[in-house]
Amino acid sequence: MKHNFGAGPGILPHEVLKQAAAGVVDFNGIGLSILEISHRSPDFEAVLDEAVKLVKEELGVPEGYSVLFLQGGASTQFAMVPYNLLPENGKAAYVESGVWANKALKEAKFFGNVEVIATAKDANFTYIPKDYTIPADAAYLHLTSNNTIYGTQLQEFPASPIPVVCDMSSDIFSRKVNVADFGLIYAGAQKNMGPAGTTLVIVKNELLGKVDRKIPSMFNYQVQIDGGSMYNTPPVFAIYVSMLTLRWLKSKGGVEAIQKENEAKANVLYEEIDRNPLFKGVCKVEDRSHMNVCFVVENPEHEKPFLKFAEERGIDGIKGHRSVGGFRASIYNALPISSVYVLIEAMQEFAEKNK
Ligand code: PMP
Repeated sequence: MKHNFGAGPGILPHEVLKQAAAGVVDFNGIGLSILEISHRSPDFEAVLDEAVKLVKEELGVPEGYSVLFLQGGASTQFAMVPYNLLPENGKAAYVESGVWANKALKEAKFFGNVEVIATAKDANFTYIPKDYTIPADAAYLHLTSNNTIYGTQLQEFPASPIPVVCDMSSDIFSRKVNVADFGLIYAGAQKNMGPAGTTLVIVKNELLGKVDRKIPSMFNYQVQIDGGSMYNTPPVFAIYVSMLTLRWLKSKGGVEAIQKENEAKANVLYEEIDRNPLFKGVCKVEDRSHMNVCFVVENPEHEKPFLKFAEERGIDGIKGHRSVGGFRASIYNALPISSVYVLIEAMQEFAEKNK
């Protein structure tokens, strides 16, 4: 058995994979595959409706918001957000908390003015910038809730006088958020929600229709809302597996229950990193992520041997991102705490052998 600590596409619940595999061969017992039926068939429409319903339930999405399943990944949202929300002569405020935030703000520059109101670049993004003033005249504030590469996470969202747009790709459904505090939330599916291929967007309807530029249909939130995420053929399989994953989440007790589990997993792993003399954490303690746990070895000579040592125990995907090095254990919703204990034991045994 493998313990999948990969950063994304990340681990999915085994039972979801089995259900998805069955649906590829015979969906709902209709004698056809989910991959070969019309997206306008009642069978698929029921899948999309349930997926939207589960998102609303699990996140407590209030009235006045639309839930969309789009394509193009979170990276397309980097452009779609300013396309729809940033007036040509207006400005948007961005917090540069990592490479993904940087990519988002670069895309926004195609559409209007961008003010980077805070950055953590000075310390290779190992902390969350907090001391900044949000300009009241900006169209929106863009945040990244969890910085997948560095392992930092916003523990509290700032009070904002302007709509907050948040990239939640790597921590959506991992903890409770108050959707009403946001103007728009987006997330690529491939961490906590499902497979790559669909992107969740939750948008406050009243923010739309305020820019003068013409927006091509596929990039226009209003067109996508009017089409019920079916302006064109949607990514049926990615939406199906996301729906199954959301069903699984609900059956586990929902976001509230998974949040407790995620906290427990993160706590035991950080405890070991702080206790074990061979390893040390990378990020500012108060900003540590509960999803991506980044750590390094004190002695660089231990890096490769520990990776091998872990791999021999079925621990997969802990090599850190190439821009950070060291290790990154991603402990997404579907990773059981038993896998975290396997990693902790490996760290302890390795330390014992390398005293
Ligand atoms: N934002 C964050 C926080 C991410 O972690 C990633 C991907 N790992 C992206 C955006 C880009 O997502 P995609 O590959 O779906 O475009």
